[in-house]
Amino acid sequence: MKLVFIGPPGAGKGTQAASVGKKYGIPHISTGEILRQEIANKTDLGRQAEELISAGLLVPDDVMVGIIKNRLAMPDCEQGFLLDGFPRTIQQAEELARFVDLDVVLNLDIPAEKIVRRISSRRMCRDCGRIVSGNDHAKNACPECGGELFQRDDDTEETVRSRIAVYETQTKPLLAYYREKGKLVNLDGDRPVEEVFSDICGVLEQYKSI
Ligand code: AMP
Repeated sequence: MKLVFIGPPGAGKGTQAASVGKKYGIPHISTGEILRQEIANKTDLGRQAEELISAGLLVPDDVMVGIIKNRLAMPDCEQGFLLDGFPRTIQQAEELARFVDLDVVLNLDIPAEKIVRRISSRRMCRDCGRIVSGNDHAKNACPECGGELFQRDDDTEETVRSRIAVYETQTKPLLAYYREKGKLVNLDGDRPVEEVFSDICGVLEQYKSI
């Protein structure tokens, strides 16, 4: 299965993509996570990306396409993969279509007014990368592995507002793009995580049986 998750920031893409990747045994490729690793490792790419990310802006298309091309050429992607956070622009989608025929694009949607609250109250585990929602991080330890939780630099209210604006102008046009290609499936992400996950699995079972 070759899948893409799209949706506004905070819609639950990372959480769902991690669970789906685990269940179906396909790599979960998060471009945001790849960039955060580059920043942590202080590479040239990390230095280039850091300022843009903390301003809530996108990293240039050619850089992102290069990253994805390299990643998808790795042997673990032969049986399929799941992209989380890529493509984010029409140009990225067009470049991707040159070398990959996607099976399905899952759009997780949530109402705009819920995004800021959801994101500014979430935390991430330093060890396993799990996203922990506002209600679940009272002990400041990851429920999965016990690792330390932290707030992403770009999860502050000001940066989230800029990420929402970037989503509206640059990423949202992908919905029409993939709808026209007959690849888009819309799901309501404003529900309990387990409910959304079960709907996603229902959609994927249909694709598997085709
Ligand atoms: P995410 O973890 O998906 O929310 O991504 C965090 C940040 O990384 C985004 O706000 C962008 O600045 C950058 N980023 C991640 N994926 C892409 C992409 N496909 N194109 C451009 N920038 C990206």
